[in-house]
Parts: sequence; C-alpha cells; structure tokens
Amino acid sequence: MPVRAYVGIGSNQQNPLLQIRNALAALGRIRQTEFVSRSRLYMSSAMGPVDQPDFINAAASLDTRLDAHTLLSELQSIERRQGRVRGSVRWGPRPLDLDLLLYGDEQIATDKLTVPHPGLLTRSFVLHPLHDIAPDLRLGGRTLPELVECLPADDLQLLENEVSPGR
Ligand code: AMP
Repeated sequence: MPVRAYVGIGSNQQNPLLQIRNALAALGRIRQTEFVSRSRLYMSSAMGPVDQPDFINAAASLDTRLDAHTLLSELQSIERRQGRVRGSVRWGPRPLDLDLLLYGDEQIATDKLTVPHPGLLTRSFVLHPLHDIAPDLRLGGRTLPELVECLPADDLQLLENEVSPGR
C-alpha cells in the first residue's frame, strides 16, 4: 500500500517562483510515487541570523511506495539538481529546500531523518500550506484548523494567481 507523505517546499534564491514550479514538476516524477496535490503559494520572511530575501513556500502531498529514507534521498537529489549546495550557513538562503513533513502516521528519529518534521507545528509557513491540502489531518490530538488558528501568521502573505492551478 502506498503511504501518504507531505513535503514542505521553500525557495528564496534564483527565481523562487520558478524554483517552486520546477520542484512541483520534479516531485511528480519521483519513482514509485504519485503526486496528489499542492497548496497555494505563500511568501514569508526568512528566519535565522542572515539578512536574506523573503521565501516563497508551498506544500505538496504524495502517495509513495518508497520508504521514508529513500524518499528523503529523492528530495535531496531534486534540491541538488536545482542548484542547492549544502553550505555552512544554517537557515541561509537557498534556491530550494524540501522537507519531509509527514510520512503516513510514522514517527521516525534517525541521524538523517526526523518525522514529523520538528518545525511543523511552530512554523506558519509550513503549517498554513499544509492546512490547504490536509484540513482533516490531526496532529498530536488536534486538527489542522485548530493548530493553524493558534499560530500567528503575521509574517505570511498569501500569493494568489502566481502559478496556474494544478501542479
Ligand atoms: P536543511 O538544511 O534544513 O534542509 O536540513 C537538511 C538536513 O536535515 C539533512 O541532513 C537531513 O538529513 C536532515 N533532516 C532530518 N529530518 C528531516 C526531514 N524531515 N526532512 C528533511 N530533512 C531532514
């Protein structure tokens, strides 16, 4: 049986809108995996110590037969193909950041992978896009609408009509 996985997508370099569009297309080409849906696009201020451009954020859902670590490797190879160089600046600017937010209802804690993603509940630019595509999900006993309600989104701006509907 395939597993429903959710991916967080962010970009703040090298034409972020194009990066997001290319990333969505690339997610649709992952082997043994079906693209299910994507959120609307959002713009958020960058976190972290480095002065850097705003991010464009989105989330996507996939049905996959890959195990979680193999799916993570696929995400990282998409990041690399879109120009991501893993540098020393934590939270630095990047053409593409793909995070595995959820993998079914599994809890994973290895050197390479923590699922649910640790930032999931505290980052508005992750939770709001996820809410677009999974309003019925429950996390830690609370529904996504409840969680979103509690998370301020002052730094988040909804971008409409920035890409055509669909992928
Ligand atoms: P970042 O620079 O924020 O993209 O972090 C990438 C690192 O986080 C990689 O070394 C991953 O192995 C690790 N990592 C741990 N959990 C996750 C996750 N759920 N999604 C993506 N990367 C993860």
